[in-house]
Amino acid sequence: MIAVYPGSFDPITLGHLDIIERGCKLFEKVVVAVARNPNKAPLFTVQRRLEQIQTCSQHLVNLELDTFDTLTVTYAQKRKAQVLLRGLRVLSDFEYELQMAHTNHSLSPQIETVFLATSNEYSFLSSSLVKEIAKFGGSVAHLVPKNVAIELEECFTKTPPLVSIPTPIVPTTPTD
Ligand code: ADP
Repeated sequence: MIAVYPGSFDPITLGHLDIIERGCKLFEKVVVAVARNPNKAPLFTVQRRLEQIQTCSQHLVNLELDTFDTLTVTYAQKRKAQVLLRGLRVLSDFEYELQMAHTNHSLSPQIETVFLATSNEYSFLSSSLVKEIAKFGGSVAHLVPKNVAIELEECFTKTPPLVSIPTPIVPTTPTD
């Protein structure tokens, strides 16, 4: 059975990688499909995201990487996949993911959405959170693959965030 794991992966986190590794144990082939979504303003280009995923997933022999800019089910049909793989973290994911699963099922009833529950240690983790931490100079080494941590650091040290640092009030000494 072939599973497509669609997403933004901007950038890939250890939470995504965990879902990919577990998916690779369950399915004959997993295709990680990076969405080319013109409505989102990503930090990394699609090409860069593919390279990031490629670098940290070399140990997975039944994994393929690709991009798509169509409906997810249209892409899954093209790849002859029977499953859409998604990860579930907290309750807030559930509403959106269920809506997407129902929508995709209405468009293509032969494709099933399979959810893998996040591993405990990654239940709070998202790409946006990682970008926010990196932007303010925090360490993300425990949240993303090593290659991604390096790229995030490079990215934000080249263009430091605009933070307003309060000016200290220096008491003035009378000159006369
Ligand atoms: P999208 O824009 O499609 O939500 P994301 O890259 O944010 O793309 O997420 C892709 C999929 O990976 C989603 O199903 C999301 O719930 C899942 N996911 C993201 N982070 C984690 C995590 N820490 N643990 C498990 N699943 C996750």
